[in-house]
Amino acid sequence: MWSSRLFWKLFLVYAGLNIASAIVFVLIVSGRQQSQVVEQVQQRLHDSAVIMRSSMDDVFQQGLTEHLQDKVKKLGALTGTRLTLIDMDGIVIADSDQATLEMVRGMENHRNRVEVIQAISTGSGTSERISPTLSEPMLYYAMLFEENGQPAGVVRAAITMAKIQKEVSSVEKLIWSIAFLVSLTVMFITYWVVARMIRPLTILTNAAESIAGGDYDQKLYFPQQDELGILAQSFNHMSQEMAERVRQLQASGDRLGTVLEGMVEGVIATNEHQHVLFANESAGRLLFFSPEEAQGKPLFESVRNHQLQKAVTEVLNTLEPRRMEVELESTSDRILGVTTTPLPGDPCPGLVIVLFDMTELRRLESLRQEFVANVSHELKTPLSSIKAYTETLIRGAMDDPKISQTFLLRIEEQAERLHELIMDLISLASIESGNQVFDIVSIELRPFVEACLVDQQKVAESKNIELLIEEKEPGIKMKADEEGLHQILGNLINNAIKYTPDQGKITIRWLCEDSHTVLLQVQDTGIGIEEKYQARLFERFFRVDKARSRELGGTGLGLSIVKHLVQSLNGTIGVTSKVGEGSTFSVRLPRG
Ligand code: ADP
Repeated sequence: MWSSRLFWKLFLVYAGLNIASAIVFVLIVSGRQQSQVVEQVQQRLHDSAVIMRSSMDDVFQQGLTEHLQDKVKKLGALTGTRLTLIDMDGIVIADSDQATLEMVRGMENHRNRVEVIQAISTGSGTSERISPTLSEPMLYYAMLFEENGQPAGVVRAAITMAKIQKEVSSVEKLIWSIAFLVSLTVMFITYWVVARMIRPLTILTNAAESIAGGDYDQKLYFPQQDELGILAQSFNHMSQEMAERVRQLQASGDRLGTVLEGMVEGVIATNEHQHVLFANESAGRLLFFSPEEAQGKPLFESVRNHQLQKAVTEVLNTLEPRRMEVELESTSDRILGVTTTPLPGDPCPGLVIVLFDMTELRRLESLRQEFVANVSHELKTPLSSIKAYTETLIRGAMDDPKISQTFLLRIEEQAERLHELIMDLISLASIESGNQVFDIVSIELRPFVEACLVDQQKVAESKNIELLIEEKEPGIKMKADEEGLHQILGNLINNAIKYTPDQGKITIRWLCEDSHTVLLQVQDTGIGIEEKYQARLFERFFRVDKARSRELGGTGLGLSIVKHLVQSLNGTIGVTSKVGEGSTFSVRLPRG
């Protein structure tokens, strides 16, 4: 309250007005009172003159007498006034303020006194002046005295101004005291009223300041039913609304923050000076910077990429969104898709950069292109052979039964190659698409492997290759799809036979690696694989020696199909090999 400037302003204005009006009131009242006192005194003087005139007969004819002087002195004492009798010649014949007759005689002629002149000419006269006789300010009243119908003299009553002043000043003192007391009371009332008016405003101001400072839990209660009461209600309603809005804003901000942080795409928001307002973890990961440290700093202090910087500057200048691809060569071979969009507002307050990693997409694209090129090439070779043999036959070779027999066999061979290639492609596409339905069952390995070997036996025998089974413990089972496992084992044994010279040995062994996994190995004593090629063996169309593979009827898709099948059956595949000594392919699948 004491610190409220409004309080002091209002209080001082009201107090000033109060004091000013009290002073004006006192001045008017005391002026009026003074003239009233003078009027009353004049009336008293008039009454005294009348009393004196009525109590005396023929005084002016008798002239100065001891008797008259005594009488006038007594009357003067009785009325509290100075009484003077003056004849028409201005000679004073009695004066209540003179002690002896001799002193009266000694008084100067009063003919020229203002009030005496007025009384002689009009019947009565007044004047306020310093008495030459008594040498002090006095109020005079003079009245013409008639005897036997003729003007005989003047009766004069007078009173000293000091007496009147004393009377006036005592009344004035009273008025000032009353005015002071009234002012004091009014001041107290003003203080109370202003304080009562200011208190709600102070409370309101404090509450508004608290809200501005972020404390929205402000409730006001004014018991008044007037505008202040309504104001308090409106204020409470407003603060509640505001608290709710702020809560909603915070919640949506948090939600947005969570969404942005959870995004795979990198998001960076900058102001118009390219200072980072926000950056999520993904942005930091993609551009190799710390979002926390970059906050509030120029973006390109943390991210050194000329292409991106150029794009951001361009967008801020043109205010047109931009899409582009940025290659991060210095740090990695990453390709980023970047969308830069200006934030709405005039002037533009900044921009948002969205980054997404396109490296994998581009890799897959190039793999696809490579695959198409490989497939076309693989298809072209047998097709060209078929076409050449057919054309030769049509052009006359058909007539030679021996040649046509050989050519037709070649055509059949190439057609078979084509068929195998297409079947492998279909099989690979089906496994890769994830549409192939596997019937996972528990398979006992011994009978299963033996059955597989029966299919391969003939080819192995033709090369004098020995097919061996090594079972560490009987009754081991594997969880797999029968057809899938047959294809896996078939391909591995087939490769082993293909890449093992005559008189070689192929061993198929299996064992329980732990309580969950069964290890199935196909080991050969073949040509082996150089270490540098081992990691690429499972890629589509990869062949160490293309010509040899083709000669042996390989498509280059066998191991790729095996790898996809093993992965689909929740297993892994690996290879160990030594050139000239042989290779071992190891498949790990769940125990049955
Ligand atoms: P292909 O139809 O050519 O055999 P695969 O995908 O089955 O295709 O095999 C890919 C390549 O891996 C083969 O061309 C061959 O060079 C090599 N390879 C596969 N199995 C063996 C093995 N047991 N011994 C040596 N090399 C092998």
